[in-house]
Amino acid sequence: RVVVGTKVDQHHVNWVTAYNMLTGIRFTVSRTNAKMDRDLTDADFDAKHKFSFDITGNELTPSAKYDFKFKDYAPWVFRHLRSTFKLDPADYLVSLTSKYILSELGSPGKSGSFFYFSRDYKYIIKTIHHAEHKFLRKILRDYYTHVQENPNTLLSQFYGLHRVKIPYGRKIHFVVMNNLFPPHRDIHHTFDLKGSTIGRDFKEEELAANPRATLKDLNWLRRDLHLEFGPTKKKMFIEQMQKDVKLLQRLHIMDYSLLIGIHDLEKGNEENLRDKTLKVFQPGGEAAEDPQPNMLVRTPSKLEASRKARELRQMVKTQRPVPMEQTSSKMPDELRDPKLNFYFYSDDGGFQATHEDDTSGEEIYYLGIIDCLTHYSLIKRMEHFIKGLANTESQISAIPPERYGDRFVRFISGVTKTKEAAEREKHHEAAH
Ligand code: ATP
Ligand code: CA
Ligand code: CA
Repeated sequence: RVVVGTKVDQHHVNWVTAYNMLTGIRFTVSRTNAKMDRDLTDADFDAKHKFSFDITGNELTPSAKYDFKFKDYAPWVFRHLRSTFKLDPADYLVSLTSKYILSELGSPGKSGSFFYFSRDYKYIIKTIHHAEHKFLRKILRDYYTHVQENPNTLLSQFYGLHRVKIPYGRKIHFVVMNNLFPPHRDIHHTFDLKGSTIGRDFKEEELAANPRATLKDLNWLRRDLHLEFGPTKKKMFIEQMQKDVKLLQRLHIMDYSLLIGIHDLEKGNEENLRDKTLKVFQPGGEAAEDPQPNMLVRTPSKLEASRKARELRQMVKTQRPVPMEQTSSKMPDELRDPKLNFYFYSDDGGFQATHEDDTSGEEIYYLGIIDCLTHYSLIKRMEHFIKGLANTESQISAIPPERYGDRFVRFISGVTKTKEAAEREKHHEAAH
Protein backbone atom coordinates (compact mmCIF):
# COMPACT_ATOMS: atom_id res chain seq x y z
CA ARG A 1 0.00 0.00 0.00
CA VAL A 2 0.96 3.61 -0.13
CA VAL A 3 2.60 4.82 3.02
CA VAL A 4 2.69 8.45 3.94
CA GLY A 5 5.78 9.94 5.49
CA THR A 6 9.51 9.48 5.65
CA LYS A 7 11.24 6.67 7.40
CA VAL A 8 12.94 7.56 10.66
CA ASP A 9 16.24 5.68 10.67
CA GLN A 10 19.66 6.36 12.17
CA HIS A 11 20.30 9.04 9.59
CA HIS A 12 17.13 10.97 10.31
CA VAL A 13 17.46 14.24 12.27
CA ASN A 14 14.82 13.10 14.74
CA TRP A 15 16.15 9.59 15.17
CA VAL A 16 17.37 10.07 18.74
CA THR A 17 14.12 11.70 19.84
CA ALA A 18 12.04 8.99 18.20
CA TYR A 19 14.24 6.26 19.64
CA ASN A 20 13.95 7.74 23.14
CA MET A 21 10.20 8.11 22.82
CA LEU A 22 9.83 4.43 21.98
CA THR A 23 12.29 3.28 24.62
CA GLY A 24 10.42 5.31 27.24
CA ILE A 25 7.05 3.97 26.12
CA ARG A 26 8.28 0.40 26.19
CA PHE A 27 9.68 0.76 29.66
CA THR A 28 6.78 2.63 31.26
CA VAL A 29 3.97 0.69 29.59
CA SER A 30 5.47 -2.68 30.46
CA ARG A 31 6.07 -1.48 33.98
CA THR A 32 2.39 -0.64 34.47
CA ASN A 33 1.16 -3.68 32.59
CA ALA A 34 3.23 -5.97 34.80
CA LYS A 35 1.12 -5.06 37.82
CA MET A 36 -2.21 -6.57 38.80
CA ASP A 37 -5.09 -4.61 37.40
CA ARG A 38 -6.98 -2.46 39.87
CA ASP A 39 -9.64 0.24 39.97
CA LEU A 40 -8.60 3.83 39.37
CA THR A 41 -8.19 6.25 42.24
CA ASP A 42 -8.35 10.05 42.20
CA ALA A 43 -4.58 10.18 42.47
CA ASP A 44 -4.19 8.21 39.23
CA PHE A 45 -5.38 11.17 37.19
CA ASP A 46 -2.64 13.45 38.53
CA ALA A 47 0.10 10.84 38.65
CA LYS A 48 3.42 11.47 36.97
CA HIS A 49 6.61 9.46 37.12
CA LYS A 50 10.04 10.57 36.05
CA PHE A 51 12.75 8.23 34.81
CA SER A 52 16.36 8.80 33.91
CA PHE A 53 17.86 6.67 31.18
CA ASP A 54 21.55 6.40 30.53
CA ILE A 55 23.94 4.15 28.74
CA THR A 56 24.93 2.22 31.82
CA GLY A 57 21.52 1.71 33.35
CA ASN A 58 20.62 1.86 37.04
CA GLU A 59 18.49 0.02 39.59
CA LEU A 60 15.28 1.53 38.14
CA THR A 61 15.85 1.79 34.41
CA PRO A 62 17.65 -0.50 32.00
CA SER A 63 20.57 0.75 29.95
CA ALA A 64 19.68 2.70 26.83
CA LYS A 65 21.51 3.87 23.75
CA TYR A 66 21.33 7.52 24.75
CA ASP A 67 21.00 9.60 27.90
CA PHE A 68 17.53 11.05 28.30
CA LYS A 69 14.76 11.78 30.78
CA PHE A 70 11.29 10.40 30.38
CA LYS A 71 8.09 11.32 32.15
CA ASP A 72 5.02 9.14 32.19
CA TYR A 73 1.65 10.70 32.96
CA ALA A 74 -1.38 9.00 34.49
CA PRO A 75 -0.20 5.52 33.50
CA TRP A 76 -3.12 3.73 35.13
CA VAL A 77 -5.70 5.92 33.46
CA PHE A 78 -4.14 5.22 30.07
CA ARG A 79 -3.87 1.53 30.82
CA HIS A 80 -7.61 1.54 31.46
CA LEU A 81 -8.25 3.61 28.34
CA ARG A 82 -6.28 1.16 26.21
CA SER A 83 -8.34 -1.61 27.68
CA THR A 84 -11.60 0.27 27.01
CA PHE A 85 -10.49 0.65 23.41
CA LYS A 86 -9.72 -3.07 23.45
CA LEU A 87 -6.06 -2.85 22.57
CA ASP A 88 -4.08 -5.97 23.19
CA PRO A 89 -1.29 -4.96 25.64
CA ALA A 90 1.35 -7.05 23.90
CA ASP A 91 0.33 -5.83 20.47
CA TYR A 92 0.59 -2.23 21.59
CA LEU A 93 4.17 -2.71 22.69
CA VAL A 94 5.13 -4.65 19.60
CA SER A 95 3.68 -1.96 17.33
CA LEU A 96 5.42 0.88 19.09
CA THR A 97 8.79 -0.56 19.82
CA SER A 98 9.62 -3.33 17.44
CA LYS A 99 12.85 -2.46 15.70
CA TYR A 100 12.31 1.23 16.43
CA ILE A 101 11.20 2.12 12.98
CA LEU A 102 8.64 4.83 12.61
CA SER A 103 7.68 7.09 9.80
CA GLU A 104 7.45 10.79 10.25
CA LEU A 105 4.84 13.02 8.73
CA GLY A 106 6.84 16.20 9.18
CA SER A 107 4.58 18.88 10.52
CA PRO A 108 1.40 18.90 8.46
CA GLY A 109 -0.47 21.54 10.47
CA LYS A 110 0.34 25.11 11.34
CA SER A 111 0.88 24.16 14.95
CA GLY A 112 4.39 22.78 14.50
CA SER A 113 3.43 19.37 15.86
CA PHE A 114 5.23 16.35 14.48
CA PHE A 115 3.44 13.13 13.66
CA TYR A 116 5.01 9.69 13.77
CA PHE A 117 3.31 6.50 12.65
CA SER A 118 4.12 3.19 14.26
CA ARG A 119 5.68 0.87 11.76
CA ASP A 120 2.45 -1.10 11.39
CA TYR A 121 0.60 2.18 10.84
CA LYS A 122 -1.86 1.56 13.69
CA TYR A 123 -0.77 4.31 16.05
CA ILE A 124 0.20 7.93 15.78
CA ILE A 125 2.55 9.77 18.07
CA LYS A 126 1.79 13.49 17.98
CA THR A 127 4.06 15.97 19.68
CA ILE A 128 1.93 18.55 21.43
CA HIS A 129 2.39 22.02 22.80
CA HIS A 130 2.96 22.38 26.52
CA ALA A 131 -0.42 24.13 26.84
CA GLU A 132 -2.17 21.19 25.15
CA HIS A 133 -0.36 18.81 27.45
CA LYS A 134 -1.42 20.71 30.56
CA PHE A 135 -4.93 20.89 29.23
CA LEU A 136 -5.19 17.16 28.52
CA ARG A 137 -4.10 16.44 32.09
CA LYS A 138 -6.73 18.85 33.33
CA ILE A 139 -9.58 17.30 31.36
CA LEU A 140 -8.40 13.70 31.62
CA ARG A 141 -11.10 12.71 34.08
CA ASP A 142 -13.86 14.20 31.92
CA TYR A 143 -12.41 12.51 28.84
CA TYR A 144 -12.14 9.20 30.69
CA THR A 145 -15.71 9.36 31.94
CA HIS A 146 -16.98 10.30 28.49
CA VAL A 147 -15.19 7.35 26.92
CA GLN A 148 -16.60 4.96 29.52
CA GLU A 149 -20.09 6.21 28.76
CA ASN A 150 -19.45 6.43 25.01
CA PRO A 151 -17.11 3.67 23.90
CA ASN A 152 -18.16 4.46 20.33
CA THR A 153 -16.94 8.01 20.63
CA LEU A 154 -15.70 9.70 17.45
CA LEU A 155 -13.10 11.63 19.45
CA SER A 156 -9.42 10.75 19.17
CA GLN A 157 -8.56 7.72 21.26
CA PHE A 158 -5.69 8.63 23.56
CA TYR A 159 -3.49 5.75 24.67
CA GLY A 160 -0.63 7.50 26.43
CA LEU A 161 0.78 10.87 27.46
CA HIS A 162 4.51 11.27 27.92
CA ARG A 163 7.40 13.69 27.91
CA VAL A 164 10.93 13.18 26.70
CA LYS A 165 13.99 15.34 27.18
CA ILE A 166 17.53 14.89 25.96
CA PRO A 167 20.40 16.65 27.75
CA TYR A 168 20.38 20.35 26.83
CA GLY A 169 17.33 19.71 24.67
CA ARG A 170 13.87 21.06 25.21
CA LYS A 171 11.02 19.13 26.76
CA ILE A 172 8.91 17.37 24.17
CA HIS A 173 5.41 16.36 25.15
CA PHE A 174 3.57 13.79 23.10
CA VAL A 175 0.43 11.68 22.96
CA VAL A 176 -0.10 8.27 21.44
CA MET A 177 -3.42 7.93 19.64
CA ASN A 178 -5.29 5.93 17.02
CA ASN A 179 -4.49 6.32 13.37
CA LEU A 180 -7.91 6.75 11.81
CA PHE A 181 -6.66 5.53 8.47
CA PRO A 182 -6.20 1.85 7.72
CA PRO A 183 -2.91 0.15 6.98
CA HIS A 184 -4.39 -2.03 4.28
CA ARG A 185 -6.53 0.27 2.15
CA ASP A 186 -5.78 3.22 -0.06
CA ILE A 187 -7.39 6.45 0.98
CA HIS A 188 -8.44 8.14 -2.23
CA HIS A 189 -9.52 11.46 -0.75
CA THR A 190 -8.89 13.14 2.60
CA PHE A 191 -10.90 15.99 4.07
CA ASP A 192 -10.50 17.97 7.26
CA LEU A 193 -13.82 19.71 7.95
CA LYS A 194 -14.57 22.36 10.56
CA GLY A 195 -17.80 23.86 9.32
CA SER A 196 -16.18 27.20 8.59
CA THR A 197 -15.38 28.73 5.23
CA ILE A 198 -12.70 31.35 5.93
CA GLY A 199 -9.30 29.98 5.04
CA ARG A 200 -10.83 26.57 4.59
CA ASP A 201 -9.78 26.05 1.00
CA PHE A 202 -6.96 23.95 -0.35
CA LYS A 203 -5.88 25.56 -3.60
CA GLU A 204 -7.28 23.31 -6.31
CA GLU A 205 -4.42 24.17 -8.65
CA GLU A 206 -1.95 22.65 -6.18
CA LEU A 207 -3.81 19.39 -6.13
CA ALA A 208 -2.12 18.04 -9.25
CA ALA A 209 1.29 18.26 -7.60
CA ASN A 210 -0.01 16.76 -4.37
CA PRO A 211 -2.96 14.51 -5.19
CA ARG A 212 -3.23 13.15 -1.68
CA ALA A 213 -3.41 16.52 0.03
CA THR A 214 -5.91 17.03 2.82
CA LEU A 215 -8.77 19.08 1.43
CA LYS A 216 -11.01 21.38 3.40
CA ASP A 217 -14.57 22.64 3.75
CA LEU A 218 -14.70 24.70 0.58
CA ASN A 219 -13.25 21.87 -1.50
CA TRP A 220 -15.90 19.59 -0.06
CA LEU A 221 -18.73 22.00 -0.85
CA ARG A 222 -17.38 22.68 -4.34
CA ARG A 223 -17.51 18.95 -5.07
CA ASP A 224 -21.02 18.73 -3.61
CA LEU A 225 -19.94 15.75 -1.50
CA HIS A 226 -21.94 14.04 1.21
CA LEU A 227 -21.33 11.58 3.97
CA GLU A 228 -23.61 9.01 2.43
CA PHE A 229 -25.26 7.33 5.35
CA GLY A 230 -28.74 5.84 5.12
CA PRO A 231 -31.27 6.38 7.96
CA THR A 232 -29.81 3.92 10.49
CA LYS A 233 -26.17 4.93 10.22
CA LYS A 234 -27.02 8.61 9.88
CA LYS A 235 -28.94 8.58 13.14
CA MET A 236 -26.16 6.81 15.01
CA PHE A 237 -23.47 9.03 13.54
CA ILE A 238 -25.19 12.32 14.26
CA GLU A 239 -26.19 11.28 17.77
CA GLN A 240 -22.63 10.31 18.66
CA MET A 241 -21.21 13.47 17.12
CA GLN A 242 -23.65 15.56 19.16
CA LYS A 243 -22.63 13.83 22.38
CA ASP A 244 -18.94 14.25 21.62
CA VAL A 245 -19.34 17.90 20.70
CA LYS A 246 -21.32 18.54 23.89
CA LEU A 247 -18.30 17.42 25.86
CA LEU A 248 -15.98 19.62 23.80
CA GLN A 249 -18.28 22.59 24.34
CA ARG A 250 -18.47 22.00 28.05
CA LEU A 251 -14.67 21.85 28.24
CA HIS A 252 -14.34 25.03 26.14
CA ILE A 253 -12.53 23.26 23.35
CA MET A 254 -12.47 24.45 19.78
CA ASP A 255 -10.61 24.28 16.50
CA TYR A 256 -11.18 20.53 16.19
CA SER A 257 -12.21 19.00 12.91
CA LEU A 258 -13.79 15.95 11.41
CA LEU A 259 -11.08 14.08 9.55
CA ILE A 260 -12.50 11.97 6.74
CA GLY A 261 -10.57 9.50 4.60
CA ILE A 262 -12.59 8.09 1.74
CA HIS A 263 -11.85 4.69 0.28
CA ASP A 264 -13.64 4.16 -3.00
CA LEU A 265 -14.43 0.46 -3.25
CA GLU A 266 -14.73 0.66 -7.01
CA LYS A 267 -11.20 1.98 -7.31
CA GLY A 268 -9.98 -0.46 -4.68
CA ASN A 269 -6.31 -0.65 -3.87
CA GLU A 270 -3.75 0.36 -6.43
CA GLU A 271 -1.32 -2.17 -5.09
CA ASN A 272 -1.92 -5.74 -4.29
CA LEU A 273 -2.05 -6.08 -0.50
CA ARG A 274 0.43 -8.90 -0.51
CA ASP A 275 2.73 -7.07 -2.86
CA LYS A 276 5.97 -6.66 -1.01
CA THR A 277 6.99 -3.50 -2.81
CA LEU A 278 6.01 -0.47 -0.84
CA LYS A 279 5.93 3.05 -2.01
CA VAL A 280 6.98 5.77 0.33
CA PHE A 281 5.57 9.20 -0.18
CA GLN A 282 8.11 11.89 0.47
CA PRO A 283 6.69 15.13 1.89
CA GLY A 284 6.92 16.65 -1.58
CA GLY A 285 4.42 14.09 -2.78
CA GLU A 286 6.91 12.29 -4.97
CA ALA A 287 6.52 8.52 -4.82
CA ALA A 288 9.67 6.48 -4.49
CA GLU A 289 10.24 2.76 -4.41
CA ASP A 290 11.13 1.73 -0.93
CA PRO A 291 14.31 -0.26 -0.81
CA GLN A 292 13.25 -1.93 2.41
CA PRO A 293 10.10 -3.93 1.99
CA ASN A 294 7.91 -4.50 5.03
CA MET A 295 9.29 -1.53 6.80
CA LEU A 296 5.89 -0.34 7.90
CA VAL A 297 3.60 -3.20 7.04
CA ARG A 298 4.33 -5.95 9.44
CA THR A 299 3.98 -9.55 8.37
CA PRO A 300 3.24 -11.59 11.46
CA SER A 301 6.10 -13.74 12.64
CA LYS A 302 5.60 -17.44 13.32
CA LEU A 303 5.46 -16.72 17.01
CA GLU A 304 2.77 -14.11 16.57
CA ALA A 305 0.81 -16.35 14.26
CA SER A 306 0.78 -19.14 16.80
CA ARG A 307 -0.23 -16.71 19.53
CA LYS A 308 -3.07 -15.51 17.35
CA ALA A 309 -4.19 -19.06 16.68
CA ARG A 310 -4.11 -19.75 20.41
CA GLU A 311 -6.21 -16.69 21.13
CA LEU A 312 -8.63 -17.69 18.44
CA ARG A 313 -9.08 -21.11 20.03
CA GLN A 314 -9.54 -19.44 23.39
CA MET A 315 -12.15 -17.17 21.89
CA VAL A 316 -14.13 -20.09 20.56
CA LYS A 317 -13.77 -21.94 23.86
CA THR A 318 -15.09 -19.03 25.89
CA GLN A 319 -18.10 -18.94 23.59
CA ARG A 320 -17.67 -15.38 22.58
CA PRO A 321 -19.99 -15.01 19.60
CA VAL A 322 -18.00 -15.06 16.39
CA PRO A 323 -19.98 -13.89 13.37
CA MET A 324 -20.28 -16.56 10.70
CA GLU A 325 -18.72 -14.60 7.88
CA GLN A 326 -15.70 -13.91 10.02
CA THR A 327 -15.11 -17.49 11.05
CA SER A 328 -15.44 -18.65 7.49
CA SER A 329 -13.46 -16.22 5.41
CA LYS A 330 -11.36 -13.87 7.49
CA MET A 331 -7.82 -14.19 8.71
CA PRO A 332 -7.22 -14.31 12.47
CA ASP A 333 -5.43 -11.01 12.09
CA GLU A 334 -8.57 -9.28 10.96
CA LEU A 335 -10.67 -11.03 13.54
CA ARG A 336 -8.52 -9.63 16.26
CA ASP A 337 -8.49 -6.04 15.07
CA PRO A 338 -9.84 -4.20 18.12
CA LYS A 339 -11.34 -1.51 15.90
CA LEU A 340 -13.96 -3.95 14.68
CA ASN A 341 -15.58 -3.80 18.12
CA PHE A 342 -16.52 -0.19 17.63
CA TYR A 343 -19.53 0.86 15.62
CA PHE A 344 -17.92 3.55 13.48
CA TYR A 345 -14.87 1.42 12.76
CA SER A 346 -16.57 -1.92 12.26
CA ASP A 347 -16.55 -2.00 8.45
CA ASP A 348 -12.99 -3.05 7.88
CA GLY A 349 -11.77 -0.36 10.27
CA GLY A 350 -14.10 2.28 8.87
CA PHE A 351 -17.75 3.08 8.34
CA GLN A 352 -19.23 2.06 5.03
CA ALA A 353 -21.67 4.24 3.11
CA THR A 354 -25.28 3.03 2.94
CA HIS A 355 -28.25 3.82 0.74
CA GLU A 356 -31.74 5.00 1.72
CA ASP A 357 -32.73 1.36 2.31
CA ASP A 358 -29.62 0.84 4.48
CA THR A 359 -27.97 -1.43 1.92
CA SER A 360 -24.22 -1.00 1.48
CA GLY A 361 -22.80 1.81 -0.61
CA GLU A 362 -19.61 2.21 -2.61
CA GLU A 363 -17.38 4.02 -0.15
CA ILE A 364 -15.81 3.33 3.19
CA TYR A 365 -15.29 6.39 5.35
CA TYR A 366 -12.48 6.44 7.88
CA LEU A 367 -13.41 9.27 10.17
CA GLY A 368 -13.09 10.84 13.57
CA ILE A 369 -12.89 14.12 15.43
CA ILE A 370 -9.25 15.17 15.72
CA ASP A 371 -7.16 17.97 17.17
CA CYS A 372 -9.37 18.35 20.22
CA LEU A 373 -6.91 19.78 22.74
CA THR A 374 -7.20 23.47 21.91
CA HIS A 375 -8.68 25.40 24.78
CA TYR A 376 -10.52 28.60 24.02
CA SER A 377 -7.82 30.59 25.67
CA LEU A 378 -6.69 34.14 25.58
CA ILE A 379 -4.95 33.63 22.25
CA LYS A 380 -8.15 32.49 20.63
CA ARG A 381 -10.06 35.36 22.12
CA MET A 382 -7.54 37.74 20.67
CA GLU A 383 -7.75 36.06 17.29
CA HIS A 384 -11.50 36.42 17.53
CA PHE A 385 -11.16 40.09 18.26
CA ILE A 386 -8.74 40.77 15.41
CA LYS A 387 -10.52 38.67 12.80
CA GLY A 388 -13.88 39.81 14.06
CA LEU A 389 -13.19 43.30 12.83
CA ALA A 390 -12.93 42.16 9.23
CA ASN A 391 -15.26 39.20 8.86
CA THR A 392 -18.76 38.29 9.81
CA GLU A 393 -18.90 35.92 12.69
CA SER A 394 -20.46 32.99 10.90
CA GLN A 395 -17.38 32.71 8.72
CA ILE A 396 -14.44 32.99 11.07
CA SER A 397 -13.03 29.88 12.67
CA ALA A 398 -12.18 31.30 16.08
CA ILE A 399 -15.65 31.77 17.51
CA PRO A 400 -16.41 30.74 21.09
CA PRO A 401 -16.63 27.00 21.81
CA GLU A 402 -20.39 26.90 22.19
CA ARG A 403 -21.00 28.39 18.77
CA TYR A 404 -18.03 26.57 17.26
CA GLY A 405 -19.60 23.27 18.26
CA ASP A 406 -23.08 24.20 17.08
CA ARG A 407 -21.73 25.31 13.74
CA PHE A 408 -19.64 22.14 13.44
CA VAL A 409 -22.63 19.87 14.14
CA ARG A 410 -24.85 21.88 11.81
CA PHE A 411 -22.36 21.65 8.98
CA ILE A 412 -21.58 17.96 9.33
CA SER A 413 -25.24 17.00 9.84
CA GLY A 414 -26.11 19.09 6.80
CA VAL A 415 -23.77 17.14 4.55
CA THR A 416 -24.74 13.75 5.95
CA LYS A 417 -27.18 12.37 3.42
CA THR A 418 -27.41 9.69 0.79
CA LYS A 419 -27.15 10.39 -2.93
CA GLU A 420 -30.85 9.64 -3.23
CA ALA A 421 -31.77 12.13 -0.52
CA ALA A 422 -29.51 14.80 -2.05
CA GLU A 423 -31.11 14.19 -5.46
CA ARG A 424 -34.60 14.45 -3.99
CA GLU A 425 -33.77 17.72 -2.27
CA LYS A 426 -32.42 19.16 -5.48
CA HIS A 427 -35.62 18.33 -7.36
CA HIS A 428 -37.65 19.70 -4.54
CA GLU A 429 -35.70 22.96 -4.62
CA ALA A 430 -35.98 23.18 -8.39
CA ALA A 431 -39.73 22.70 -8.20
CA HIS A 432 -40.16 25.69 -5.89
P1 ATP B 1 -3.33 22.67 13.27
O1 ATP B 1 -3.44 23.04 14.71
O2 ATP B 1 -2.56 23.64 12.43
O3 ATP B 1 -4.64 22.31 12.63
P2 ATP B 1 -2.06 20.20 14.18
O4 ATP B 1 -0.57 20.12 14.16
O5 ATP B 1 -2.74 20.35 15.50
O6 ATP B 1 -2.46 21.31 13.14
P3 ATP B 1 -3.94 18.13 13.39
O7 ATP B 1 -5.01 19.06 12.98
O8 ATP B 1 -4.13 17.32 14.63
O9 ATP B 1 -2.52 18.87 13.43
O10 ATP B 1 -3.64 17.09 12.21
C1 ATP B 1 -3.04 17.49 11.02
C2 ATP B 1 -3.20 16.40 9.98
O11 ATP B 1 -2.58 15.18 10.43
C3 ATP B 1 -4.65 16.03 9.71
O12 ATP B 1 -5.27 16.86 8.76
C4 ATP B 1 -4.49 14.60 9.21
O13 ATP B 1 -4.11 14.59 7.86
C5 ATP B 1 -3.36 14.07 10.06
N1 ATP B 1 -3.91 13.42 11.28
C6 ATP B 1 -4.06 13.97 12.49
N2 ATP B 1 -4.60 13.12 13.38
C7 ATP B 1 -4.82 11.97 12.70
C8 ATP B 1 -5.36 10.69 13.05
N3 ATP B 1 -5.79 10.42 14.30
N4 ATP B 1 -5.43 9.75 12.10
C9 ATP B 1 -4.99 9.99 10.85
N5 ATP B 1 -4.47 11.17 10.46
C10 ATP B 1 -4.37 12.15 11.36
CA1 CA C 1 -6.21 20.89 13.07
CA1 CA D 1 -3.94 21.90 16.60
